[in-house]
Amino acid sequence: MRKIIAIANQKGGVGKTTTAINLSSALAIAEKNVLLIDADPQSNSTRGLGIYQDGLTSLYNILLDEASFPDAILKTDLPYLSIVTSDIDLIGAEVELVDFAEREYLLKRKIEAAPSNYDFVIIDCPPSLGLLTVNSLVAANSVIIPVQCEYLALEGIKLLLETLERVKSYLNSMLYIEGILLTMYDDRTNLSRQVAEEIRSHFGDRVFRTVIPRNVRLGEAPSFGKSIFFYDIRSKGAEAYLNLAEEILKNEEKGIR
Ligand code: ATP
Ligand code: MG
Repeated sequence: MRKIIAIANQKGGVGKTTTAINLSSALAIAEKNVLLIDADPQSNSTRGLGIYQDGLTSLYNILLDEASFPDAILKTDLPYLSIVTSDIDLIGAEVELVDFAEREYLLKRKIEAAPSNYDFVIIDCPPSLGLLTVNSLVAANSVIIPVQCEYLALEGIKLLLETLERVKSYLNSMLYIEGILLTMYDDRTNLSRQVAEEIRSHFGDRVFRTVIPRNVRLGEAPSFGKSIFFYDIRSKGAEAYLNLAEEILKNEEKGIR
């Protein structure tokens, strides 16, 4: 019983990586076996979990058949959380993989051949709709779309929703939206409230009930190489990501999709 969730939005800086790190960690704290895959050449999930070494076997080596999946899995400070790291070479993968047969299915095939003891595989996507994101969406059962509570948020996800429809039509008919996640919500501003209302009225129960507040501690944690739970477990940010994990686990139990 393994669930693969891609965290995607082609817009930069909306909270994909923050969600990837802290949702993975929250699920691991709930004793779910979690594998986080960093599919972004920026390597922010890798660094955000305190991994700085060069020359590690990374997702790039797996995708190009230079290494087998288990060789790239690293343990983290949380017993139930492992990671497949990214490095800057992954930028080249977008180009190098173009000539590969069935290039959209590479990550899916690799994950299928990976150890099967994971309850959740979480994929942190880059801010683009290129081959790495498409591979992630093809490999995934569902997608979480973080949306920053700011002006034109709704416009920003239209392109992504079109891409999702195309992926569903041609590459992965079972893909569904796990949830749209409102991030960096600031309840002191009218704009945050308006955007949240607009997104909810448009997408209804596709939007997670859990909202991620703008929280300084969430912004600080990655520069210490820590998830929010090792950095400040009492923060609003930690509470929010625990709630998100709980919401996802409850939906899973009820079979909601
Ligand atoms: P990219 O598209 O570049 O990969 P991203 O979508 O992964 O970006 P993040 O890296 O998670 O976005 O967040 C962008 C910045 O905002 C980071 O500096 C992060 O620490 C900060 N940030 C994210 N979420 C919050 C939050 N809820 N409160 C405060 N700061 C946040
Ligand atoms: Mg990111």
